[in-house]
Amino acid sequence: MSNSSELITDLTQLARWVQTQSDNGLSVGLVPTMGALHDGHLSLVKSAAQETDSVLVTIFVNPTQFAPDEDLQQYPRDLEGDLQLLGSVARVTAFAPAVADMYPTENSAATDIESNKLDNVATRWEGERRPGHFLGVTTIVHKLFTLTKAQVAFFGRKDYQQLRVIERLTEEHHHNIKIVGCPIIREGDGLAMSSRNAYLSPTQRTQATAIYKGLQAACSMANSKEIAVAELQEVVRKQLGTAEINRIDYVAVVHPKSLEPLELLERAEQIKQLKLGAIILVAVFIGNTRLIDNIYIPPINP
Ligand code: AMP
Repeated sequence: MSNSSELITDLTQLARWVQTQSDNGLSVGLVPTMGALHDGHLSLVKSAAQETDSVLVTIFVNPTQFAPDEDLQQYPRDLEGDLQLLGSVARVTAFAPAVADMYPTENSAATDIESNKLDNVATRWEGERRPGHFLGVTTIVHKLFTLTKAQVAFFGRKDYQQLRVIERLTEEHHHNIKIVGCPIIREGDGLAMSSRNAYLSPTQRTQATAIYKGLQAACSMANSKEIAVAELQEVVRKQLGTAEINRIDYVAVVHPKSLEPLELLERAEQIKQLKLGAIILVAVFIGNTRLIDNIYIPPINP
């Protein structure tokens, strides 16, 4: 199946498109991405096509969410390829603006959307390891919500903390938009799809499979018996160690809403207290490539 994707590159065209959808009573589903699209992104697009009338996929490598020592310059860009991929899954409109359009003045990332106003959801884990990252993310997402007037926005659970931050942003800033969290799409061997996987050498790519193996091992242990959180973290770390992934940023078992660590809780206690299950978050470096992943541990019915 091939659908032609319409490409919008400037804000005037975008405003016209948004107005047309509204005039025709069509709901808009927004899928924000940084491009270099893969099946993970496309699953979000498919969900959007099912749930809304008009799908708008934004392709924008957002400079404000990269720290100076991160991979902004190197980040893969392939607009042609992205448009072709989009056309293969659904009829969508792509919005690929220039940096100067999204940031008319140099410091415009410094909006009032301070990460720390979104409580600990934004300050721990990625927030701590990548200072300024969520300020950049929330700034661009806030702009996109405002510009597109979308009714629904789709984000991947691959970036679980980002999803929670955006849910908080939406509450805090009264955006009238529904946030949908979509499942993590993985390669055949379990590695979570990511545009950054392209940085991995063949050896590193093999090592990277240990991330999901560790998460799975911990998850099945958690489901089969009462277990201390520290033990779960150890299971993940051991698996990473076996693959010689020794630069572990963090392995954390957290509350699925607050993202607070559950370090001292036993599984049984946790179920009683949360009835929500838990999330194991992982961030590692393989060579210079930083990868994140996570898994959901569902609550056990007592
Ligand atoms: P990115 O282009 O990396 O900023 O990602 C754009 C959106 O796609 C975010 O909401 C991501 O969480 C989501 N995404 C990226 N990789 C995956 C994946 N493997 N499975 C599901 N969603 C993903």
